[in-house]
Amino acid sequence: MGQIVCQTCNETVEFFDAEKVTVLYGKCPRCNGEKDHSDQE
Ligand SMILES: [Zn+2]
Repeated sequence: MGQIVCQTCNETVEFFDAEKVTVLYGKCPRCNGEKDHSDQE
C-alpha cells in the first residue's frame, strides 16, 4: 500500500496501490492552493 502525505501539513492526501509500503510526499490541494493566495481573507 502506498500513501501520499502532504509535506506541509502532514495530512494524508491519497492512498494508492503499491506492492510494498511506500510513502511519498506531495501537497494536498489545500496547501497547494494557499501558496498562491497569501492575501486572501
Ligand atoms: Zn497540506
